[in-house]
Amino acid sequence: MPTYRAPVDEVMFLLRDVLHVERYNNLPGFAEASPDIVEAVLAEAAKFCEDVLAPLNRVGDKEGCRRHPDGSVTTPPGFKNAYGKLVAGGWVGASAPAEFGGQGLPTVLTQAIREFLYSSNMAFAMYSSLALGAVAAIYSHGSAEQKARYLPKLISGEWAGTMNLTEPQCGTDLGQLRCRAAPQPDGSYKITGTKIFISAGEHDLTDNIIHLVLARIDGAPPGTKGISLFIVPKFLLNPDGAPGERNAVSCGSIEEKMGIHGNATCVMNYDGATGWLTGEKHRGLYAMFTMMNTARLSVGVQGLALSEVAYQNAVAYAKERLSGRAPGGAKFPQKPADPIIVHPDVRRMLMTMRAFNEAARALVLWTALKGDISRRSGDATEREAADDHMGLMTPVIKGVLTDQGFANTVAAQQIFGGHGYIAEHGMEQFVRDARISMIYEGTNGIQALDLVGRKLPKDGGRALQAFFAEVSGYIKEADAAMAPYVNPLGQALGELREATRWFAQNAPGNPDNAGAGASDYMQLFGLVALGYMWCRIVDAAKASSATAGVEDKLVTGRFFMERMLPATATHLARIKAGAESTMALPTDAF
Ligand SMILES: Cc1cc2nc3c(=O)[nH]c(=O)nc-3n(C[C@H](O)[C@H](O)[C@H](O)COP(=O)(O)OP(=O)(O)OC[C@H]3O[C@@H](n4cnc5c(N)ncnc54)[C@H](O)[C@@H]3O)c2cc1C
Repeated sequence: MPTYRAPVDEVMFLLRDVLHVERYNNLPGFAEASPDIVEAVLAEAAKFCEDVLAPLNRVGDKEGCRRHPDGSVTTPPGFKNAYGKLVAGGWVGASAPAEFGGQGLPTVLTQAIREFLYSSNMAFAMYSSLALGAVAAIYSHGSAEQKARYLPKLISGEWAGTMNLTEPQCGTDLGQLRCRAAPQPDGSYKITGTKIFISAGEHDLTDNIIHLVLARIDGAPPGTKGISLFIVPKFLLNPDGAPGERNAVSCGSIEEKMGIHGNATCVMNYDGATGWLTGEKHRGLYAMFTMMNTARLSVGVQGLALSEVAYQNAVAYAKERLSGRAPGGAKFPQKPADPIIVHPDVRRMLMTMRAFNEAARALVLWTALKGDISRRSGDATEREAADDHMGLMTPVIKGVLTDQGFANTVAAQQIFGGHGYIAEHGMEQFVRDARISMIYEGTNGIQALDLVGRKLPKDGGRALQAFFAEVSGYIKEADAAMAPYVNPLGQALGELREATRWFAQNAPGNPDNAGAGASDYMQLFGLVALGYMWCRIVDAAKASSATAGVEDKLVTGRFFMERMLPATATHLARIKAGAESTMALPTDAF
């Protein structure tokens, strides 16, 4: 059975030494989160994830969710009990606004806890993640009455939430959406249609489930401009706010799927269910984007989380499994063979995972901190800059961290040889669970298009220019001793700038050039961002008073610069090749 230890020390190092979170004590909620408190909260979360959730991960995978003839769904054994503990611990809405019962803790802290939750049991953690997405949407777009009715229970975790976009005929292209909303005299709507693949659409963990549903009001324009967002509770609320009559929404079936068996993926039937418009009419996609951006970052964290837990188990196995001798002669002559960790090819995989995990965690927490600044700062310029960063990094974190996170679960499985392919060690579950993170919340191809098509040109390229200015400013001022890190970063940044210029010159006349190069651009961008994180990590490690672990960071950072960052040149070459050979074959030739 796999084991898991939450990387509390790593998170503390990032918060304290790399991000200097104490500098933000002027932001609401930050002063309360003193280093001692943060460490205690992380330790408590770690204990819950390690002792309660990790042992249930295999159970959830084997038992899965069950739908009963009446449409109810039972989660795997142990999930309900663990969910009760999650709620009792106040973990669900720890960062949510205090005015609705949250604790207002910085997201930079709770995002770290999300990683622990996903590493220990991704399928379980998704139930509460979706509730947080619903909180974000209602908080930003709901009326005062809607906020008062739904937010406290969603934030406490007593109720769960879902997001209902996908229909049988459309997932990416929501302009084709057919679900209908018929206006009623009392101001409510009757929602009719079928949604598919709805995560946590039905389950037994909470007293109520608040569905956020995209639908088209009768007579609305076609395409994405005619879509509105509705709140559709599983149980309608009584005047006192308690769940009352059952609404006309039900789970028609649950999908059999590759992974995350502990999370119910439901077909949801809306048969004239009562719903209420939230946000503006026909601006539902815009409102849903609030939820999707929260969710996209969270899905990026899933990639990191599964990479981390897979790495931890691969390291343990590589130290135990004996096979062959080190190329330069036996390292453990007293043993019948050396442990496989002596082999450079095994090291290559372990170092790749390690170098990715540490920088990806830094990127996630840096971006979470920007999220806090964008919501909590009193300075409008600072808020705008932080918001720019979030918009730019969201597709990068979602796409790059899940692509590489999945690749890392495969590498960890590889380290187990045949023992990784069989179920006993749990490594194949990580591979299966990680795979969905590249698909949902917008496939990674769509993240790349969002980055290139929307985020780069937005506001005249303001966000991108700010990122370039930050990284090149850092490079200019870096200490000469940082050359082994800063020089490769400078080269990679140059390649990213060149790719950006190439798009500016070659995409307007031929949009296929942007489409064909977008995924490479996203990966190139991610490598530069991770490389920058490594420079900051190395700087912090050198400056830190700690002696343990400093050299490990310098070496791991060097591995990233020498063995991972050079992939930027390949991405640039592919981008500059343009779309011609990709698009030349006629459809019939396939
Ligand atoms: C386990 C699971 C859980 C899910 N949870 C939810 C949920 O809670 N709520 C919800 O609403 N949905 C959910 N989904 C749906 C998920 O978000 C969609 O499957 C995903 O967005 C892709 O949509 P699709 O499956 O219709 O694929 P399609 O949109 O048909 O795409 C197929 C392929 O074509 C590519 N493609 C499509 N359009 C374009 C384009 N314009 N340009 C370039 N490439 C394109 C895509 O990248 C993809 O590779 C879930 C799915 C699964 C499997």
